[in-house]
Amino acid sequence: MIDKGRLHTVCQEANCPNQFECFSAHTATFLIMGGTCTRNCRFCNIDGGQPGPLDPDEPRRVAQAAADMKLRYVVVTSVTRDDLPDGGAAHFSATIRALKEKITGVQVEVLIPDFQGDRKALETVMAARPEVLNHNMETVARLYPTVRPEADYRRSLDLLARVKQIDSAIPAKSGIMLGLGESEDEVRQAIADIHATGCRMLTIGQYLQPTANHLPVVEFVPPEAFDRWRRVALEIGFDKVASGPFVRSSYHAGEMYSDKQP
Ligand code: SF4
Ligand code: SF4
Repeated sequence: MIDKGRLHTVCQEANCPNQFECFSAHTATFLIMGGTCTRNCRFCNIDGGQPGPLDPDEPRRVAQAAADMKLRYVVVTSVTRDDLPDGGAAHFSATIRALKEKITGVQVEVLIPDFQGDRKALETVMAARPEVLNHNMETVARLYPTVRPEADYRRSLDLLARVKQIDSAIPAKSGIMLGLGESEDEVRQAIADIHATGCRMLTIGQYLQPTANHLPVVEFVPPEAFDRWRRVALEIGFDKVASGPFVRSSYHAGEMYSDKQP
């Protein structure tokens, strides 16, 4: 169905280790606005380069594929489109609206880029009323220049803080990866910084090197440590925390949004 709709999923593009589990549970994360990103994060398997023009029919095809797959909770993410004046915010908005028109009662989580700090772009996405607004911090502040060279730690925190200011009914969600060389103090600080924005949903997963050309794994963090970070985040004040080696921001996303602790 994904191929038929000429769609991309981050599950496939990012070589996510959970594909069998998620696909068999009718969960997928659609990657909109093409398979080429204007940025070049050193952990990410998505191709960098100059993306093509937006396909105005894509929102309809995402909605059709989600309906065919009988999805009730749909995660939509995108490559970063710094080449577009609005960063692709209107396209996100059109995709959310198409899903809501097509599937009665569907819940939509969007995992958005930083829109270069453009508040108006964030407002455009939120006006389409997704159930969850997710933006990943990805790593600790010190590692931004090596891990996310075109991003900015403070700018991403500001985005999370604005979610509450714009519409407090839409929860913010974020996530970080471990295993890139961060210290325990830095992880604790990142969790506290995310919490200070008002964000109350957090995912913590292990970084895996997608190819030999990407950043090496500095550490394979043991499962007990992920359990400990989950408890730390709950103590700091998060409501929902998914933490484990194979946790990704969209892993069990529907359960995380519902009342069940993932
Ligand atoms: Fe796709 Fe997310 Fe599941 Fe990975 S965790 S297979 S990216 S839905
Ligand atoms: Fe990958 Fe997102 Fe970075 Fe682009 S901005 S390279 S899609 S993580």
